[in-house]
Amino acid sequence: RITDTSEIPEDTAESDNPLRPKTLSEYIGQEKAKENLKVFIEAAKIRGETLDHVLLYGPPGLGKTTLSGIIANELGVSMRITSGPAIEKPGDLAALLTNLNEGDVLFIDEIHRLSRSVEEILYPSMEDFAIDIITGKGQMAASYHLPLPKFTLVGATTRAGQLTAPLRDRFGVVLRLELYTPEELAQIVERSAGILGIKIEHDGALEIASRSRGTPRIANRLLKRVRDFAQVMSNGVITLETARTALDRLEIDELGLDRNDRRMLEAIVRFYNGGPVGLETLAAAIGEEAVTIEDVYEPYLLQIGFVSRTPRGRCITAEACKHLGCEFPKGVVN
Ligand code: ADP
Repeated sequence: RITDTSEIPEDTAESDNPLRPKTLSEYIGQEKAKENLKVFIEAAKIRGETLDHVLLYGPPGLGKTTLSGIIANELGVSMRITSGPAIEKPGDLAALLTNLNEGDVLFIDEIHRLSRSVEEILYPSMEDFAIDIITGKGQMAASYHLPLPKFTLVGATTRAGQLTAPLRDRFGVVLRLELYTPEELAQIVERSAGILGIKIEHDGALEIASRSRGTPRIANRLLKRVRDFAQVMSNGVITLETARTALDRLEIDELGLDRNDRRMLEAIVRFYNGGPVGLETLAAAIGEEAVTIEDVYEPYLLQIGFVSRTPRGRCITAEACKHLGCEFPKGVVN
C-alpha cells in the first residue's frame, strides 16, 4: 500500500537518508515541539548537562526518528537506534547501555513494546545512570552495581496510552507530534524534490501534499512515484496536471484516501448501517489488524472528520458519506 505509513525498504535505503533533516531549522512544522526542544537543548548545553529523557508520540511517519537524530546532532553527540521488540532480555539492554558514550542519545522506537523485565532495569538506568546485575544463583549469587555513562533516552511510540505509568513518569520532556498541514507538507515535498534533483512546480507540490494524509513519509513516497509519471509524461517536471494524473492512477483520491480507506468506510456503512461498530469486529470484517486500523487508518480519518469514536464503537460521519457518494444511514449518532 503506497499510503502505508510503516517504513519499507525504499525508505530504509534512505536510512542514511538524504531526505532526513539534520537540524531543527531544517525540520519543517511541529512548531510547538520544536520551540520547546530548542529551549531544553540550549539549557542543557549551557549547563553542560545531558538533556532530560524525551518521549515523542504520534502516528507513524511523522518524524519521530528524524527528530531524535536532530536532538543528537544539535547536542553534538551520537545516537544509537533500537526498538522495544528488539531488546528481548535485560542483558540486551545492559549491553546497549554500557556501550554508550557520555551524553549519547539512545533512541528506542516502539517503546511501549518493551517487556516488563527489560523495563525494570530501564528505570534505574534512566534515574540513577546505574544498573544492578545479579549473576549466579543461590549461595553463589552476587550483585554488581554498574555505573553507566549519562545518556538521554529518546523513546518513540504511537501509543502513549500503552506506556506503563512508571515509565511515562521518567520522561522529563513529553512531546506530541501532530499531523502536518498541506502547506507544511508542500514545503517538505519541495525540499525533498530539491535534494533529489526533481523539478516541481508549487501547485504540483501542493497537490502531492494534500493527498499525503498529513504524513511526511507518505509525501516523500508519493513524490518519488509521481516523478516516474512526470518523466514519462512531461519531461520530468511535476506540474499540477502530472501530479493529479499520477495520483489518480495510483487510486489516491483528492483527500489522500486509498482503496483500503474507502473499503473500511464502506464496510461501516454497508455491514453496520453506519455504526457504531467495535474495532475488532470492523478489523475482522475487512481482514486487517485492529492495531493497523488504530495506528494507520484512523488518525487521519478522525482528523478530517470521516469517522467518529463513540463509547460503543466507530461511526461514519455525514461528510464521509458525501465524499463516498453514499447515503448517510439514518440513526447514526456521532
Ligand atoms: P517516524 O519515526 O515518526 O515513523 P521518521 O522520522 O522516520 O518518522 O520520518 C519519516 C520520513 O519523513 C523521514 O525519512 C523524513 O525524510 C521525513 N520527515 C519527517 N518529518 C519531517 C519534517 N518535519 N521535515 C522534513 N522531513 C520530514
